[in-house]
Amino acid sequence: MTTKQFEAESKRLLEMMINSIYSQREVFLRELISNASDAIDKLYYKALTNDNLTFHPDDYYIKITPNKEKRELTIEDTGIGMTKEELVDHLGVIAKSGSLAFKKDNELKDGHDIIGQFGVGFYAAFMVADKVTVRTKSIDSDQAYVWVSEGAEGYTIEPSNKTNVGTEITLTIKESENEEDDFDQFLETNQLKSMIKKYSDFIRYPIKMDIVSQ
Ligand code: ADP
Ligand code: MG
Repeated sequence: MTTKQFEAESKRLLEMMINSIYSQREVFLRELISNASDAIDKLYYKALTNDNLTFHPDDYYIKITPNKEKRELTIEDTGIGMTKEELVDHLGVIAKSGSLAFKKDNELKDGHDIIGQFGVGFYAAFMVADKVTVRTKSIDSDQAYVWVSEGAEGYTIEPSNKTNVGTEITLTIKESENEEDDFDQFLETNQLKSMIKKYSDFIRYPIKMDIVSQ
């Protein structure tokens, strides 16, 4: 097992996510759905330039599964997946795109505006989860890995037995500490459905929803 620290800037962004205010939290779904869609796009483009790879649109989808009993919400995609190195480079380090702008021009105290203005990316998961588990198998690797983090303290990476290429992100949803928190909405099928609808306008792949009986 590999245990690692987040980069200093990543840790700051992550702490900001953990302390976000309730009205912004649901954007985690936008971020995770768009990452899932990007991952499928990457596989599609790879197939265009690689004769050994074919892309059957029917095989590609995003699946969202709430499990109330375990307080887990899983977002699965059949995209390109991540190698061990990519897990370290992409999830351990602040995103190179949108969210980087925040650290240059803004102080943490303005953080709440930043969440709306930029895509905050993967770390948005920590607005609703106190533990994030990423199981992933890259198209370029025979070995799958599982990345686990319980917040700013760091993360671990271990081999996983996932067999199919793609990524499965499981959020352990926080317990509400007061009425305004309402973290339970992220485990409710109907509420999830309307959030997904709101954030899936530009998503070209089917989004399925699985309901684990409770
Ligand atoms: P951005 O999407 O702007 O690059 P994110 O913080 O959302 O930033 O994601 C960081 C990186 O992590 C992505 O660029 C991608 O390389 C990787 N990543 C995140 N989610 C997935 C996923 N579901 N499948 C494959 N790679 C992913
Ligand atoms: Mg993203």
